[in-house]
Amino acid sequence: MSYRAPVEDIAFTLKHAAGLGRAIDEGLYGDLTEDVVDAVLAEAGKFASTVIAPLNAVGDKHGTPLKDGKVTMPPGWKEAYTAWAQGGWNGLAGSEEWGGQGLPHALNSACIEMWNSASMAFGIGPVLTMGAIEALERHGAEPLKQKYLTKLTTGEWMGTMQLTEPQAGSDVGALRTKAERNPDGTYRITGSKIFITYGEHDLTDNIIHFVLARLPDAPPGTRGISLFLVPKFFVGDDGKLGARNDARCHSVEHKLGIHGSPTCTMVYGDGGGATGWLIGEENRGLNCMFTMMNNARLAVALQGVAIAERATQQATAYANERKQGRAGGNGAIINHPDVRRMLLTMRALTRAARAICYATGAAIDGEHRGKDAAARKAASERAALLTPIAKAFSTDVGMEVASLGVQVHGGMGFIEETGAAQHYRDARIAPIYEGTNGIQAIDLVTRKIPLGGGAVVRTYLDELRRTVAAVRSANDPAFGSTGTRLADAVDSLERATVWLLDKIEKAPEAALAGATPYLRLFASAAGGCALAEEALAATRLNGSAEAPRRIALARFFAENIAVQAGGLETTVTEGADSVADVALGAA
Ligand SMILES: Cc1cc2nc3c(=O)[nH]c(=O)nc-3n(C[C@H](O)[C@H](O)[C@H](O)COP(=O)(O)OP(=O)(O)OC[C@H]3O[C@@H](n4cnc5c(N)ncnc54)[C@H](O)[C@@H]3O)c2cc1C
Repeated sequence: MSYRAPVEDIAFTLKHAAGLGRAIDEGLYGDLTEDVVDAVLAEAGKFASTVIAPLNAVGDKHGTPLKDGKVTMPPGWKEAYTAWAQGGWNGLAGSEEWGGQGLPHALNSACIEMWNSASMAFGIGPVLTMGAIEALERHGAEPLKQKYLTKLTTGEWMGTMQLTEPQAGSDVGALRTKAERNPDGTYRITGSKIFITYGEHDLTDNIIHFVLARLPDAPPGTRGISLFLVPKFFVGDDGKLGARNDARCHSVEHKLGIHGSPTCTMVYGDGGGATGWLIGEENRGLNCMFTMMNNARLAVALQGVAIAERATQQATAYANERKQGRAGGNGAIINHPDVRRMLLTMRALTRAARAICYATGAAIDGEHRGKDAAARKAASERAALLTPIAKAFSTDVGMEVASLGVQVHGGMGFIEETGAAQHYRDARIAPIYEGTNGIQAIDLVTRKIPLGGGAVVRTYLDELRRTVAAVRSANDPAFGSTGTRLADAVDSLERATVWLLDKIEKAPEAALAGATPYLRLFASAAGGCALAEEALAATRLNGSAEAPRRIALARFFAENIAVQAGGLETTVTEGADSVADVALGAA
């Protein structure tokens, strides 16, 4: 089934839940207007729906075969990528200095969602290039920036991000790829990397690899990692491509999903060593990589939203057509209460995840553009707090919603030709890459909620309480028990937060055992409040036909999903012993 970009919904969430409208009014984005935002979204939606979406099944079917060291992308992909890059989409939020458009990250987030709804395998490639741009811009030496940044920003060349090795996945500090100093100031890179997204392809003339490696005298662990820029083809001072570097793709993985995205094993040094250029300082590579990773984490979060949106559209269309049993109305299965519950769950989870992601994008904007140092610091802490929640919750939602999408289709969902099965397969990777969701939950509990001695999370809780109070004082029967249910959810979140802040130091194993259910609890309260905010905003817009729909969805989330917060709180605060006590060993 085709994809229809939900441009109006996206614009509404951007302006009213993520605060883009207010930020524009306050001048955070210079002379940007809401009209420009609407126009950008409409164009992106058109490109995603008409150019990229038709290639999704093609990519799934053809994959990315490797022959004689070359990866061939699926038919039509190179033309689509070239048109996409020439349309300026890669540099939407990039610096104008390097050929970007300098538009908000929040707006770029909305576009990233649409590229990935159209095709996750297509959308993931540029995500890594965007991360590479940010790392190079923030940490790279001037000559490197001059040589590479414009071509990367315009998308003429793509970038990769290379951390993983067989023994170094979540534990990046275990990596062994070697970097040795050359007399001319460059470095000789030898070793290999696995699972490298877009490590080799024919979409662009050059590929710029960002590779983590270890110097011979580096301290062990994460404090001994350096980041290197390793181009596939050397670039002359005149910008022309020269000889091939000693970096090659050894093999391409066969995967469960995203078949159109080449996942490569990369080998450095078959001919004595690849030449790399240091980014940032020696042994400080992980810091530079974190710049890329936060960016990439939000983008992967958006993949979760994207696949959930696409699966919801497809399931809703099918449920309107398929007739079965004694359903009311026209006899279509959409009239069965159980099917309606599935579809509403899909829609509510998708919209909540979208709101959290866009709010994270807006916080990243505030980090860069805030009016003073205090505002920038607050925004940076907000982005830090929300990033693991956005990543883990949204990608879990992507998976759950895609699974419900298959279920709504019944047996046809299991048959490839409907496309529901592809969404389900594609969605499965997002909770794994860019830091598994387990690692995100640990990051939330051990690093993010302790920020500012707990002050950052407390400020956020206060905001959630203000939303709850606003729902209550709206006094609109259409909200049902939304106010009470959300108040309960925020209470649960607050108690679990206090419990964890206490346990992180005193009983870290107990805190870690509760990390994943805590993240879900956090998202249940935050997502419920975000949908309530949207409903309140719609009510404020006089005569908005949006209001009844948005209130109904906020109510559904509060009464059917946010209510799970109490159980999650109990799991966090009382479940740790059972995790520790049960002996697992070999099955
Ligand atoms: C399709 C695909 C594309 C990818 N693209 C890239 C890429 O472009 N660049 C790149 O560098 N990498 C890439 N990766 C690698 C990906 O980021 C890793 O697979 C991921 O980080 C997990 O590492 P791992 O596979 O070694 O799993 P492991 O680290 O072995 O984890 C296995 C399980 O143990 C858990 N676990 C591990 N450590 C801990 C801990 N300390 N505490 C609690 N739980 C823990 C994990 O959460 C997970 O559930 C890609 C992978 C795939 C499959």
